[in-house]
Amino acid sequence: MKVRILGCGGSFGSPLAWNRNGNIDVNNPKNHRTRSSVLININDQNLLIDTSPDLRAQLYNAKCTKIDAVLFTHEHSDHTSGLPDMRAMSLINQSIIPAFISNDIKESMIRNYKYIFEGHKDYSPFMSVKTIDNSFSIGDTKIKTFKHNHGSIDVQTYRIGNFAYSTDLKNFYENDIDKLKNLDLWIVGLLRYDPHPSHAGFDKINEYINYLKPKRTLFTHMTALLDYEELLSKCSENIEPAYDGMTIEL
Ligand SMILES: [Zn+2]
Ligand SMILES: [Zn+2]
Repeated sequence: MKVRILGCGGSFGSPLAWNRNGNIDVNNPKNHRTRSSVLININDQNLLIDTSPDLRAQLYNAKCTKIDAVLFTHEHSDHTSGLPDMRAMSLINQSIIPAFISNDIKESMIRNYKYIFEGHKDYSPFMSVKTIDNSFSIGDTKIKTFKHNHGSIDVQTYRIGNFAYSTDLKNFYENDIDKLKNLDLWIVGLLRYDPHPSHAGFDKINEYINYLKPKRTLFTHMTALLDYEELLSKCSENIEPAYDGMTIEL
């Protein structure tokens, strides 16, 4: 399995805007973060988690011309609004691309992106909606998923083998965190050091990491308040901030 960090920025990306650099050193390319998304290559398939507003450039930089399926974590626009960019992938491969979407957001996703899922006038649909169970397969790849809390809404954590992705995380429900034991790689959202109403802060995320002890942990979904080198210096062994374009072989 190969995992590529397409983007590891929060909803604004990083830096915030020209000359609005927060705490980051803009001369370090690792601090230039597009909105969060990840590409997984497994069993000869390319699985995309979320369609960020920066998707077109992310796929271009990854030299990716084929997506076999998209998994959505939640409906916030920093995770969905790149959906129209899937049209090129559909055109190139003459395929209707399946989008795996949880039941609670299915209706509004279809409503918001009607031309994509149902077509409009002369335009044919280029994606199809698939609902997700706690455990399902895409080709030969088995995927497990469960909901975690993100303030007033829920987000899907996805686990594929010993890799898991939990972005926009405030809390786990009940004992769900135990479903993330024995991970080789955990990619987890860290918005900023202090807690946010919808995102856990650095201390809480580190409690989760210390409990789970994944072999390796990468932070994603970071604002311009988190400088790569400064954050790295605060991290224990086997924990580090991700950067756009980072690729991990598992
Ligand atoms: Zn987000
Ligand atoms: Zn969100």
